[in-house]
This record gives sequence, structure tokens and C-alpha cells, in this order.
Amino acid sequence: MASLPTTNAGWLEMSNQYLLRHPMRRAPLVPERGDGIYMWDVEGNRYIDFQSGQLCVTLGHSHPDYVKALCEQAHKIMQTGSTFIAPSEVLLAKKMAEIAPDPLQKSFFACTGSESNEMALRLVRKYTNRFEVIALQRGYHGQTSGSASITGRGGMLREGYGPMPTGAAFIPTPYSYRCQYCPGESCCNLGCAEAAEMVIDSSTSGKPAAFFFEPLMSAAGQIVPSKEWMQTMARICKERDILMVADEALTCFGRTGKWFAFEHFGIVPDIVTCSKGLGGAVPLCAVMTSAEIADTAVEKGFMPFSSHAGDPLLCATGLANLEIVERDNLVENARVVGEYFLSRLKKLESAYEIVGEARGLGLCLGLELVFDKKSRTPNFEGVAIVTQHCYENGLWLPIVFTAKLDDPLERRFMDVSGAHVLRFMPPITVTEAQIDEAVDILEGGLKLAEQKTAHLGRSA
Ligand code: PMP
Repeated sequence: MASLPTTNAGWLEMSNQYLLRHPMRRAPLVPERGDGIYMWDVEGNRYIDFQSGQLCVTLGHSHPDYVKALCEQAHKIMQTGSTFIAPSEVLLAKKMAEIAPDPLQKSFFACTGSESNEMALRLVRKYTNRFEVIALQRGYHGQTSGSASITGRGGMLREGYGPMPTGAAFIPTPYSYRCQYCPGESCCNLGCAEAAEMVIDSSTSGKPAAFFFEPLMSAAGQIVPSKEWMQTMARICKERDILMVADEALTCFGRTGKWFAFEHFGIVPDIVTCSKGLGGAVPLCAVMTSAEIADTAVEKGFMPFSSHAGDPLLCATGLANLEIVERDNLVENARVVGEYFLSRLKKLESAYEIVGEARGLGLCLGLELVFDKKSRTPNFEGVAIVTQHCYENGLWLPIVFTAKLDDPLERRFMDVSGAHVLRFMPPITVTEAQIDEAVDILEGGLKLAEQKTAHLGRSA
């Protein structure tokens, strides 16, 4: 047998032959092992992983107690099927009910974030006997047809796939840094919430079944809505009998300094979808709701199942994940270290012309890059330079797609999809010293990007 590649380039070349991967979804390094916040590529280079895998490994890579729980369950039984109940499935649902506020008490499980939103769509329709839903412009909920139909990002996510399933209407993003509704930047007149009511009145029957939203819009660029906006939306939903569905795919179970991101806003949604941070490293998702909604939907014939629903291996591992977060007080760590990290990012905001805004909650933070503070023109070039610099110096940040920068339409799409925002989501075990190590590398990248892009604002 021919010998296997030993370099990143070698593996990438071999992957070209056998994997269907778009070039924009292929990082330059091939990770081989991980430990805590670090990962190593096949050449032995070390990176600080500020993407936490794909925002899943909240405990860091291969946490020993997590791996132990996974192996123990693997030795007992791994897969049983969706007609069986697994003890670990019951215990995980119980733990989630203890963590979540009332009346969020019942859960059902599957594998991915897209799947959880797909199931939540079916649930709200069955429960309400209504079909329409509203969702947020710029929001991301997945790639399956139902979850894609409530995703408010156009361009390549829609082009060439024919009509999406109908039923979704999109309301404006509560994006204070780029607000189209408030006349001055220091005031908020909740114009975007008023516009949401107009969308409901003009583009739906006036009584959609549900409102799907990310409490912190991460893929869109770490956009944090105001508490007032969230509470206004909750009022609008209550008045019209619209169910609130919080998509907590990447904010769930501690990342934002609270167990769930919705807790920052003083609301309790009717339904919560969870994935990434639920399983830790295994593909596990859940839909949580009240006993009333769950039982009524089941009476009406709602029957979600898939081959891996409630698998013992996935649920036992997810349970260990939550138990370790609780045991090691990691929600509090995310809050405290997150505050420290944000204070360091705020200093960068003051020091660099190309940093428009530092924002986020807990350890779900971002820097919005612009050409200059006055124009606020999105600086995609800057993001590409910083990301490359960080990679070359051992800090891995979520990869940003900066193709076809000379195409104005492409730039508009990238703006909608938040590609000018650097995102930082380290494992929630991270320490302040590790944040310092990463911020020093990041600052080197910002210096470089400022030198190379500050003048581009006039021509872009
Ligand atoms: N919802 C949100 C908020 C997400 O961020 C994502 C993935 N980034 C999804 C849903 C889809 O999850 P998955 O890729 O596991 O299907």
C-alpha cells in the first residue's frame, strides 16, 4: 500500500480525489489531535482553537472525564433505536428540565441543529394547526429544506435550489450598529420591532404559528438584540398567540455566561432548540418545550423519530457534558472570563480605526471590522488579513469566506452574512492567561490589517 500523507498539503491533495468539499469549506490545516483549548495538525503545529471545533466542544478537546463517560457507554450499548427508551436519554432530559426555567420540561432528541429546527417547525404547525412562521433577516437555522426556509441569508444558500418551502416571512434584524430605523446612534426607538409588526400584518395572515430566532445572532456577526426589543417581540407574540422558538444551537449550555442565551433578556420561550453545546463533541440535538405543548401535539399525532433519536451513546455523552459544566462551574467561568475578554476587545475597539464595535455575551464575542469608524463600511479584506495572520501564528478563528471581493453583489451578500465580523468562541474552560495569549496574536493581525486596509475605504 502506498504510504499515507504526512503533511497538511498532502492530505488536502488526497481529499480532492475522494471528498465532495467546496474550496471555501476547506481549512488549510488538517487537525489530528486536540487537548483542551489546543489542537495540533498532522505536521505537529499547535493552534489555540477559538472556534471550539465547530462551536461544539465547550469543554475543550477530548476532556478526560467526557472521554471516560463516552467510552464507558460505548462498552455497554451504543445504539438501540427510536422505539426504545434509554436510561441516559431519560436522565439527560431530566437534567435539562432542571436547568431550564419552567415550563420547559419535556425534550426529544436527534442529531443536528438543522434537524432540531426542522422538528420544531413540525411541532409548532401540529400544535397550532397553523402554517406560517416568522424569522429574522440574517438569521441562520440550517441547511435542510425546512430550516433553510427560515434562514434569512440569501445568495448561495438559495441560488440554484428552486423554490424553498413556503410559509416564512422575515422581519428586520435588531442590529443596533447598523440600524436602519433609529435616527441617531445613541437612541433606540424600537423601529425594527414596529417594522416586524408591519411584516406580520402585510406578509402573513396576521397570526403565524411561531417566531424562530437566535437570542444571540452568531453567524450574522455576534449581533446581540436589546432587552427592550426582545421583550417587545415577546409582547407581540403573546398578543397574537405566536409561539416563540429560541434557536440556541451554539449558545446553549453555558457559552454566554448563562445556561441559555434567552435568560439574558428576561423571557422564557415556548420552545428551545439545542445542538452543538448539548452533545459536546457527539452529534446530539434536542427540542425542549412545555408538557402542555408536547402532550397536545402528541395527541394530535405529532410523532418525531429518526434512527438516532435518543441513542444511549449520544445521550450518555451529552449528560456527562452537562454534568461537567455544572460540576466545574463553567457557566460562571464563561461569564467571568468572557467579561475579561470583552474588556480586552473594547480596548482594541478604542485603539484601532478598523474596529467598529466589540460585542457579544460571555464567550461568544466578536469584532466588527470597518474601513473607518465614520463610514462603517464593512472591511472584509481586514477580516481575511487578521484571520490569516492568526492562523500563521497559532490562533485558529472561524474561517471567513472572502471570495470574489471585487464583485459588489458578492460584497452585499457577505455583508448580510456577517463576513466582516471576527468571531471568538473558545471552549468555556478557557483561562484569562489563555485569552491574553490569543489577544496578543489577534492584535498583531489588527495592526497589519489597519496598515493594509485603512486607505481602501475611499475606493470600496
Ligand atoms: N442554528 C444555528 C443558530 C446554527 O448556528 C447552526 C449551525 N451553525 C444551525 C442551526 C445548524 O446546525 P447544524 O449545522 O448542526 O445542522
